[in-house]
Amino acid sequence: MFDCIVTQPVIKQNTPKRYTDGKSPFLRQSTSTAMIDLHCHTTCSDGTLTPTELVNAAIAAGITKLAITDHDTLAAWNEAIAAAADFPIEIIPGLELSTVYNGRSLHLLGFYPQAEKLLPPLQDRLAGRHRRAQAILDKLADLGYPVALPNLNGIAPGRPHIAAALVMAGHAQSTKEAFDRWLGDDKPAYVEYEKFSAIEGINLLRQCGAVPVWAHPYLFRGGDVETVLPELVAAGLMGVEVYHPSHSPSETRRLTELCQHYGLLLTGGSDYHGPSANGRDTANHLNQMQLPVSLLEPIKRAAVELAVSS
Ligand SMILES: [Zn+2]
Ligand SMILES: [Zn+2]
Repeated sequence: MFDCIVTQPVIKQNTPKRYTDGKSPFLRQSTSTAMIDLHCHTTCSDGTLTPTELVNAAIAAGITKLAITDHDTLAAWNEAIAAAADFPIEIIPGLELSTVYNGRSLHLLGFYPQAEKLLPPLQDRLAGRHRRAQAILDKLADLGYPVALPNLNGIAPGRPHIAAALVMAGHAQSTKEAFDRWLGDDKPAYVEYEKFSAIEGINLLRQCGAVPVWAHPYLFRGGDVETVLPELVAAGLMGVEVYHPSHSPSETRRLTELCQHYGLLLTGGSDYHGPSANGRDTANHLNQMQLPVSLLEPIKRAAVELAVSS
């Protein structure tokens, strides 16, 4: 199955429609089936595949370079790297850091962080999420709906876990009902939580040798991309996730122009969360963006330069 990586290209050069959608401008020149996916999740955050299962799925999907970018944790790396050891696939260590900008959620991808530097602040954050989950449970108990959290084995507890516990306990018919009645942003059991600001996040990633990249900018709801991007660049942002399933062709083109204007790295990935589980649809699939491995070299070079200066 892996022979295809070094033999004849499978990608046909005469299927232009696929390439006129603005999503994969490099693919037209590609002469290899080697593909890169720089944005994936595992069961260590909110994915449904274990790190080993994700690596196997990536190999089957023709990916030869795979970044593991779980939310706020590096926990999947070791298993993924071990699972990849005997196969022609390179694991790129990364994460997706949750931050806030203009009061709204803003995700930063970080590639090649030095784990020993990044783990302590992530542990602090994890402790904060545990404190927040306990505060929500205390509120629910006060409201007459006591529940216990399942053992999450180090995974950061979030509202979806508490919603599932409410369903399990028979207090709600569905997780949606749990959010509508208690857990939503303006509902009685909601508790704010501690997050990095985007600027703090960029600084933290750089201090830890990680290349900071704005993930899926057009999903951000706190301001115009054109306004926010220069502010993030001024703070030290080094790249933009140009290729993402949520971006339209025109958004992808605009991000490409902005990257050229500001001298930023271009990244992309499927934001794959695994096959659907619990009835949740996951429309994204691995290698969806069909990106060439040539995206990686500039990111690697940037990481080396950061490591030297950090
Ligand atoms: Zn995200
Ligand atoms: Zn993601």
